[in-house]
Amino acid sequence: MRHAPSNTRNRRGVPDTARVRMTRPQHGRVLFLCDRPVSDPAVGEVAAELGYELVRARSLAEAIGHARPPGFALILAGYSGDAEALFESVRRLRGLLPSTPVIVHGIPKEAPFSLEAIYEAGALAVLHDPVSRPILKAKATFFLEAYANAGARHRAQAALEDTRARLESIIGLAEVAAWTLDVDRGTVRGDARMLALYGLPPGDAGSVPADIPVDAFFAALHPDDVPPTRTLLAQAIESGEPYHATFRVRADGGAWRWMLARGRCERSGAQRLMRGVVVDATVQKQAEERLRASEERYRTLFDAIDSGICVIEMLYDDAGRPVDYRFLEVNHAFVRDTGLPDAVGRTMRSMRPEHEQHWFDTYGRVAETGEAAHFVNEAAQLNRWYDVYAARVGPAGSRKVVVLFTDITARRRADLELRRLNDDLAEQDRRKTEFLATLAHELRNPLAPIRNGLQLLRRAGHDAAAATRVQDIMERQLDHLVHLVDDLLDVARITRGQVELKPAWIALADVLSAAVETSTPLIEANRHRLDVRLPAAPLTLYGDGTRLTQVVSNLLNNAAKYTPRGGAIVLAAERDGDEALVAVSDNGIGIPADALEDVFTMFTHVSHGSQAVPGGLGIGLSLVKSLVELHGGSIVAASAGPNLGSVFTVRLPLGEAAPRPAPDAAAAARPPGSLRVLVVDDNRDAAETLAALLAMMGHEAAVANDGHAALRMLAGLQPQIVFLDIGMPGMSGYEVAQAVRANPGWNGVRLVALTGWGGSADRARTAAAGFDEHLTKPATLAAIEAVLARIAASSPVERQ
Ligand code: ADP
Repeated sequence: MRHAPSNTRNRRGVPDTARVRMTRPQHGRVLFLCDRPVSDPAVGEVAAELGYELVRARSLAEAIGHARPPGFALILAGYSGDAEALFESVRRLRGLLPSTPVIVHGIPKEAPFSLEAIYEAGALAVLHDPVSRPILKAKATFFLEAYANAGARHRAQAALEDTRARLESIIGLAEVAAWTLDVDRGTVRGDARMLALYGLPPGDAGSVPADIPVDAFFAALHPDDVPPTRTLLAQAIESGEPYHATFRVRADGGAWRWMLARGRCERSGAQRLMRGVVVDATVQKQAEERLRASEERYRTLFDAIDSGICVIEMLYDDAGRPVDYRFLEVNHAFVRDTGLPDAVGRTMRSMRPEHEQHWFDTYGRVAETGEAAHFVNEAAQLNRWYDVYAARVGPAGSRKVVVLFTDITARRRADLELRRLNDDLAEQDRRKTEFLATLAHELRNPLAPIRNGLQLLRRAGHDAAAATRVQDIMERQLDHLVHLVDDLLDVARITRGQVELKPAWIALADVLSAAVETSTPLIEANRHRLDVRLPAAPLTLYGDGTRLTQVVSNLLNNAAKYTPRGGAIVLAAERDGDEALVAVSDNGIGIPADALEDVFTMFTHVSHGSQAVPGGLGIGLSLVKSLVELHGGSIVAASAGPNLGSVFTVRLPLGEAAPRPAPDAAAAARPPGSLRVLVVDDNRDAAETLAALLAMMGHEAAVANDGHAALRMLAGLQPQIVFLDIGMPGMSGYEVAQAVRANPGWNGVRLVALTGWGGSADRARTAAAGFDEHLTKPATLAAIEAVLARIAASSPVERQ
């Protein structure tokens, strides 16, 4: 193959197939296919001038190798003498890159083939050898511009298609249907989705959607939604404002589905078109519905629940300590259970500044740890107790706490009341037990002298004087017993509300003198002085004389009992307005201030410190109070304190009557003896009957009624045996025994304990105190004889 010299200005050799770098290669690439070893420099220069990168290929295969995207803006195929090869190259490259123009160059003026054949192969232009630079430039420019335009158009087209595809896929994904309403013709043109939504038949595949009367669409709407939707549509057309509507649509008899339509009316020339979209919002609507329902359920529960509920937000100080909280939500019961109206938005401290810190600490901990808390505590500022359940709302870091609480103030009060009642019952039970023990003791006390008396009578024989004395004693003790039993029965009756008064018009003076008469034996036995002060004018009462006498005599008896021997008792009566005032005062052991109220409670015994006091049954004053109150009166106790005496003041409503003076009292008897025995007992009757018994047994018996007297008598009497009562006021039997044992001069004296208590512990105690024998009251004659026999056997008791 001959290579014709194509360019005389070929100054330098360029490596084959090398790509020639051009100065402004910004427009694209130009392929230069030429198998001549030295190619025409004009080609490269023109390409560079036009701003293209020249790619050289020496063979068709090499050219095809370069024909990758973005392809070439222009192909220049050179002729090197092989026409078939040229045709083949043009055809192949055109087939491969159909939109790239091909220019053939280097064709000799007298070509051995027809130029038509080159054009038929696909070339768009032919340049003859030698290449003319202006012609090459002009033709290349023409084709290059044509290519560039075609490229731009092609790209724009592609971009448009891409956008449309993307839009369609977005619309498809969002389930949006598009429509256009021709307002004046009343027809709608909708896309396939639109038709499907409304259950209208799709148009022929690929054909332009048909115009459908707008009523066909309305026919698919829920009847209730048609009028409002038509109105909205008309308004939007009228105003040009956006059209917004929500309605239900049913396609092909299926379920109703919620649609959301948006559109806007625009004028294009004479035509009014509204373009819009429709979205199937059923799922959204259902979710909304579910949310609304759950919100409603929550709200209903929140408000209907009978416990207080609030949602609070914790507030902290700079150091991060919880110091307050704000109410975000509260229910109806909240106000009732806290007494805090309008709490939402406000803080606890702003409403109750002194609210206890433990509330803030607890809720702060719940918010911090997320651990719920259940507790019971007091809110003093709200004056209530609460049972509380608190839990954090939200994830870690949330400062919100929901608090569910119940006002348990009433329950707590009831609990406390129950506990108090329980304590009261226990106290009453304790008192009753104590009462039973005391009652047994009290009943046994008169029994001892009565039994002794009986034995005495049996032995008294013809000693009429002794018998009379013993009978007196027994009668007195029996009276005491009867009195005790009467009191007990009265208490029982009063407790059951069975006491009936037998009221009459009575003179107060009569009541007082009867009482004095009843109490005189006890007063005299204790060597008290009684002073009776009556008012100048007589006072009359309407009441039960017997019961009122019982009242006053009870008070006098107590004064006598609770005043040391030789005391002073005053019974005074006077008028105070419409009331009679009766006061019984003594200078005795007195009553501690804290016990003044209690003395009227049944079975009460006042503690008088270490002082040994003759306790009674503890029912007298309770009886007195009940009787006074039955008469419409009242009674109070007063005392300046221990050992400063007591005053009991009774107030009774008055009537009219005449006064009467109080009578004087009688005296008591005394026993003799022949054996040196000393009997010590504060119960005179017990002492005397025992002494009498001992006398009848042939002993010389003396009597002492208290410990001090006994000790005084010891020296003069020099007894061998002392019968010593344990429970005596002033100085107990133990103390007397200790005093005796402490004096070596009385070493030979035998001590016999007389006590109501006969347990082993009691016996151990008397033995420890220095007693030789222990006798339980009331002691039988046999027991006394056995003791005397034992003592006689154990030591040489000197007889006189
Ligand atoms: P009782 O005398 O049988 O124990 P009361 O009901 O008569 O029962 O008296 C209750 C208690 O009140 C007595 O145990 C005693 O402690 C106290 N008390 C009553 N009267 C007096 C008084 N005049 N002086 C001191 N204490 C008294």
